[in-house]
Amino acid sequence: MKPGYEAVIGLEVHVQLRTRSKLFCACRNAYGAAPNTHTCPVCLGLPGALPVLNGEAVRLALTLGLAVEARIQPQSAFYRKQYFYPDLPKGYQITQGPVALVEDGHLDIPGDARVRGTDAPVRIRLERAHLEEDAGKSHHDLDGMASHVDLNRAGVPLLEIVGAPDLRSPQEASDCLKSLHRLVVALGICDGNMEAGSFRCDANVSLRRTGDPAFGTRVEVKNLNSFRFVRQALEHEMDRQAALLEGGEPVRMETRGWDASAGETRSQRTKEAAMDYRYFPEPDLPPLRVDPAEIEAARAALPELPDQQIRRWREAHGLGMDEAQALAQSPAFAAYFEALARACGSGRGAAAWMLGEVSRTLNERGISIEAFPLAPEALGELVRLVEARTLALGTARDQVFPALLAGEGSARTIVAQKGLAQVSDRGAIEALVAQVLAANPGPVAQIRDGKEGLKGFLVGQILKAGQGRLDARLVNEMLAEALAKP
Ligand code: ADP
Ligand code: ZN
Ligand code: MG
Repeated sequence: MKPGYEAVIGLEVHVQLRTRSKLFCACRNAYGAAPNTHTCPVCLGLPGALPVLNGEAVRLALTLGLAVEARIQPQSAFYRKQYFYPDLPKGYQITQGPVALVEDGHLDIPGDARVRGTDAPVRIRLERAHLEEDAGKSHHDLDGMASHVDLNRAGVPLLEIVGAPDLRSPQEASDCLKSLHRLVVALGICDGNMEAGSFRCDANVSLRRTGDPAFGTRVEVKNLNSFRFVRQALEHEMDRQAALLEGGEPVRMETRGWDASAGETRSQRTKEAAMDYRYFPEPDLPPLRVDPAEIEAARAALPELPDQQIRRWREAHGLGMDEAQALAQSPAFAAYFEALARACGSGRGAAAWMLGEVSRTLNERGISIEAFPLAPEALGELVRLVEARTLALGTARDQVFPALLAGEGSARTIVAQKGLAQVSDRGAIEALVAQVLAANPGPVAQIRDGKEGLKGFLVGQILKAGQGRLDARLVNEMLAEALAKP
């Protein structure tokens, strides 16, 4: 983007709540069932059917509200938002009105140093989170003849979370979305499956001249179903708006869709074509009142939050922010890391293995940590051998870890059977050092003349002579001793 402009971004996220049944009826809330098998008169919008609010959905919404330190409104109401679309059988969506169940929360995310000059945490306000029902799903590509509608999703509970325009770069937008995603998954209120549409994001973005206190005209970008798309779409949209402003043209207030294959946003509807939804209070539902006891029960049931976990790990193990965030990527990954750290006695060692070999294996096999074949205790034994300098890191990574994965026995057994233990025997190392020095009189003379840089070459030769199993620290130490002798 052209220098001299600043981006202002606000996110709107739709989180599908993991309830057993839908928001206003007893139909199952289940993804992937045969089309139109989870429907009833209420979610089909048949005349005379009456909605009944699902208490479980309220509890999950409260959980999110408490986790983001929001205010829980003791009373809020449902409204009808009218519009016509084939996947909306009632002709209106039930959503919340001017007062939302959850208001004024916040998330703390690392600031983008490129735009703020520091990566100190910034507080992103969450204006509100309200309950509403999802629509059904239209399929336009099942055959060449007609569009089809699947109403299994109609009436599935959504929590719409509206973020304040506090973000200043695509990086911050993506970090904020990741933080929210980690949180809803850790709280168990959403399965977090972005491809299946359980966690959907729209992003609003405007530009202003750097230093200008007023906001510019915003554009809403829809259909951002991956963190990468959020960044790409915002970057593209910022470039598009900057080009307009540079050319002296106004930015139009509109909704645009992200076309991932074309790598650009396309206009969907303009402000002039904006619909009047004719909101009015839903006459078939009483006001939503929350009992303070219910709030306290939800508060007592809160697990340790990802941000708290990240802080605790950073303090206890001296981990970097990026490392700690990566470890908190999912509750199962975090739990595995904690078990591994306990088993091997080293947080740093466990973190390095989780983000190194374990992640590489998961990526290669296309599996998640739940399907990782090794128990934390089994891997912990290997990490412990490395930490105790019984096993060289390279040997552990290249030989013992694959054998462990292949089910060849415990780390200790594999090391013993294959004779892979790290050599820390001074006598053995001394002999190899002498052997390499004798074989390289030229480099040795040059080092003694002050060419210190050649030492690395000798270390390499010695390690090679020891088949990669020598304790590298001892090798360096003993080489220095040998060279110091006349
Ligand atoms: P509406 O009244 O149309 O719902 P809101 O003011 O509630 O609009 O904002 C909707 C979303 O747009 C929020 O996520 C908010 O953060 C974001 N937003 C509002 N104004 C701007 C702006 N000037 N630039 C970028 N995002 C904005
Ligand atoms: Zn139903
Ligand atoms: Mg709004």
